Amino acid sequence: MGKRGPKPVDVGLLNFWECEWYKAFHVLRDGTALPGTRAVSAPPHTISSSQVRDWVRKLKAMDEAEYLKINNLACKAIAGERHADQSPSDEISLWWAREQKEREIAELERYLNPKKITAETERRALWQSLWHAETTAALQKVCERWALLEDVRARGLVVFPNYVLANAHEFLRMKRDRRFPKSDSPTFDESRLEYLARGMAGILAEVSPMTGIERLRNMQHAKGGPLWAREPGGREYCGCWRCGLDASRPAHKLSALGWWNGMALFMKLADQSRISKQGRSPNEPARNI
Ligand SMILES: [Zn+2]
Repeated sequence: MGKRGPKPVDVGLLNFWECEWYKAFHVLRDGTALPGTRAVSAPPHTISSSQVRDWVRKLKAMDEAEYLKINNLACKAIAGERHADQSPSDEISLWWAREQKEREIAELERYLNPKKITAETERRALWQSLWHAETTAALQKVCERWALLEDVRARGLVVFPNYVLANAHEFLRMKRDRRFPKSDSPTFDESRLEYLARGMAGILAEVSPMTGIERLRNMQHAKGGPLWAREPGGREYCGCWRCGLDASRPAHKLSALGWWNGMALFMKLADQSRISKQGRSPNEPARNI
């Protein structure tokens, strides 16, 4: 109170907006809120198209809590006990499960229907125009097309292109900073997306984009970090969205083959869990009412 000096930064708010922008930019670029693996090519010979169709059907029928449960089983099977369970009651875990499931369905469908790739090329071109824009007029053109994308409207994400336009000056300015990753190489695209998400988070948390970028990049995630929290049960954890999110099956991160093998294991565990549920004695209460 009455203190001079720079305005304090609300890290919780920065963290919230970083997550929202991360999703909004991924939906713009990839059509899904979590980044696609891009490693997915044709499956190995042991996996047939009809099997992939069957997986899509089963994934679509699965709810978030079930997805999370099977994912935890698959992670344990791949990585052993080192994997920390995601709690099915935790909001961010459920959100992650919903988005991850959707992404996997999209990737499996891409394999079944290669025509989808054309639509994806158009989205990537739009994303390219966004980060290449150097004038307000160019930015306006991109944001108008962004706001017209069908799934962006359906997900209620039209506010994001509007925010970019309303803050066009700051948006263009953070892109001119020397720290902005300008290389056209796809390996830089993810860090570019993060940079812009953090900068926009800065604007919405009412600090400068560069303050947002630096504070989020340098944030401590260990004990003593700004979002370190403690559950009533005593478990301590970093409450940021990233720490709550990184639950992809370890095999997914390795290669295209790892991705397919991870999917195959997941679906096998899902079938087993369904069979054991069906095999339950009639006296036992059903889990889902
Ligand atoms: Zn964290």
